[in-house]
Amino acid sequence: MSEPKSSDSALRAMTDDGAFRVVTVRTTDTVRRMLAAQSVWGPAAERLGELATGAILVRETMAPTHRLQGLLRTEDGKHRWVADSHPDGGTRGLLTRLDAEAAPSIAGGMLEVVRTLYNGELHRGVIEVPSSGDMSEALMAYLQSSEQVASMLSVACVLGDDHVVAAGGYLVQLLPEVGRGPLAIMAERLRDFQRIGELLAKTDAATSPLMDELLYGMPFTLLEEHPLEWKCRCSTVRVMSSLATLPRADLNELIDAGKPIEMSCDFCGEKYTVSPNQLMGLLDQS
Ligand SMILES: [Zn+2]
Repeated sequence: MSEPKSSDSALRAMTDDGAFRVVTVRTTDTVRRMLAAQSVWGPAAERLGELATGAILVRETMAPTHRLQGLLRTEDGKHRWVADSHPDGGTRGLLTRLDAEAAPSIAGGMLEVVRTLYNGELHRGVIEVPSSGDMSEALMAYLQSSEQVASMLSVACVLGDDHVVAAGGYLVQLLPEVGRGPLAIMAERLRDFQRIGELLAKTDAATSPLMDELLYGMPFTLLEEHPLEWKCRCSTVRVMSSLATLPRADLNELIDAGKPIEMSCDFCGEKYTVSPNQLMGLLDQS
């Protein structure tokens, strides 16, 4: 059965006074497929949905044309999440649990963001997750301390009994021109939008109604909307090139064993089989 097309998108706007740049995203379908690929549910799955949504929002704000990864781990290191967001709108996610019984609370954990800069170098920022254990607060803290971006942001992932009800969020970036008046109005307005799960569930997380709510009464201009989806990036070529980085001695050992190697993608579960002949091909190249 083929997957229904994703209805997710990212919408950007700017207020006409030049004070705020706003991104709203619907990530319901992205998160649905991500959780299915990872076979996870419950609080740890909600954090994955939130992290993926946050990674998309931060990428859309800081560098829409470049890749961004969000890495999160609990203080005890027993839960680790990865969200990998790309400029084509495709995002994939990964949850690693060393102990499925451990609580997936992220309070006091670490949030790391790695993104590619225009010159190809990596920008890396790490913060400690605030004691509230709230993903939105962690993302705002990251933006403030690592990117010097003042923002108001909220992400949410609402799970039903057996389906993703809604996932999405927004990021309001305060531009340097922002005056005290508009800032006070916006801060007051967004107090009602700190927890947006309920609103997203009611509106199917659609980007345009959320934008209208956030910017109610403020003249603004819509800039762009583009589609988002869950997408893995694995391929036979990538599997082979990762094997090619193994030391020659290790490759020889695998070849001598004479059996095909079975590998599966951590993000999507796709299985790859590499034959001894293919491994020998790697030796020829190196
Ligand atoms: Zn994959």
